[in-house]
Amino acid sequence: PEIGTALVTAVEKRRTKIEKIENLLKPLQMSEKILQEVQARMRQEMERGLEKETHQCAFLKMLPTYICSKPTGNETGEFIVLELGGKNMHIVHVRIGGRPEEERSPIKETYTLPQNLMKGTGEELFDHIASCLLDFQKVHNLGGNKMYLSFVFPFPCKQTALNQGCLIKWTKGFAASGCEEKNVVELLERAIKQKRELNMTVIALVNDTTSTMMAGCSKHNSCEIGLIVGTGTNACYMEETKNIQMEMENMSGQMCVNMEWGAFGDNGCLDDIITDFDQEVDVSSVNPGKQRFEKMIGGMYLGQIVHRVLIGLAHNDFLLSNLEPRENLLELKHLCLIEGDKLSLVEVRSVLLKCGLNCALDEVKMVKIVCRAVSTRAAQLCAAGVAAVVEKIRENRALDHLKIAVGVNGPLYEDHPNFKDEMESTLKKLAPCCTVTFVQSDSKGKGAALISAATINAQTNQST
Ligand code: BGC
Repeated sequence: PEIGTALVTAVEKRRTKIEKIENLLKPLQMSEKILQEVQARMRQEMERGLEKETHQCAFLKMLPTYICSKPTGNETGEFIVLELGGKNMHIVHVRIGGRPEEERSPIKETYTLPQNLMKGTGEELFDHIASCLLDFQKVHNLGGNKMYLSFVFPFPCKQTALNQGCLIKWTKGFAASGCEEKNVVELLERAIKQKRELNMTVIALVNDTTSTMMAGCSKHNSCEIGLIVGTGTNACYMEETKNIQMEMENMSGQMCVNMEWGAFGDNGCLDDIITDFDQEVDVSSVNPGKQRFEKMIGGMYLGQIVHRVLIGLAHNDFLLSNLEPRENLLELKHLCLIEGDKLSLVEVRSVLLKCGLNCALDEVKMVKIVCRAVSTRAAQLCAAGVAAVVEKIRENRALDHLKIAVGVNGPLYEDHPNFKDEMESTLKKLAPCCTVTFVQSDSKGKGAALISAATINAQTNQST
């Protein structure tokens, strides 16, 4: 009988433990009703960003991109595409159109971005970018004719023309001084000029969402939305120009709008769903109070949220008793491995051990549950955002049903074991009147080159 009593107590203890853990994770769970609410608020903030009277104080900036059409397929030319990322910088030489014998696959190089440059001076950052461009030009013998450069700059910029734009604020851990409110094309061109042999000129400043949408157009002709779910998150879409009231009232046609949806929630409109874990991640970031939606979805933050939940469990004696806050304990690549089903529990345990977490097999299961809860919420919130966009486009066009494609890029979509499916299935529920196809596209290649090519073609047509 004693053994029996001990067994019952053990089972009860375990049950209470699971219940308590479930309680701790509850704030991360999004019901359909909450997601509909998030969708509605996103829609409201989109309108506030577009309207003349409310734009100034709106947090969703809905920035005009000066891209007014999708590629026609007749674009030609040779371009350099430069994309600045958090850890790396990508430089690509793209040739589009032309005679088939001239076609060749793009030449790509990845340069690491020394982490101190993210927080140093703008001059050092842009000088480094120019040095990499020079290296690329030399290594690939491109110094002959002047090359046109598409600058994929994945940060919020207030553009006044396709090749002019001021950085509104850094995001994703960047904090280089002397760049905010400056024209980043000028900063880059100044650095380029200082490298005398560098023979390049910036023709387009492009957000990564826009280049992703443009790249998606070559795969699907109704691609009118660009979505990034990488280190950060953001979306762009083709809006009726007349609706971009704060800038382009009375104009016809369409223009791509860079939503900068990462800032959704910065006015407090998501405070009821923001958890203590999110709060802690925000407070310890370089931009507290900013990019609240991004901090619940972006790959840069998911590991940090998981980490905070684990600390919560540890404090309640449920898990990993000696877990302390530490920067970047778990990165997105770890979350993908932990949550996927390719590794056995023992293998996941060694992944965790490499990250500095020493757990028992039982605890590994808990860590998997936590990762799943955090990534599921990210995918669902992202779906709520996309639902708001597709519904807006459907209403713009007064359609009962909209068929549309989204060009999507980023490791959460491409590499994460559950994000894609969760996002797509949630979107179906939230936007039942829209059939949405996702096309995986590249942000740093053809799309950005196509934007430059279209500009040059338009300039040539105007002067003839
Ligand atoms: C930036 C956006 C960018 C997104 C994805 C955000 O932090 O503000 O401009 O598109 O990250 O890279």
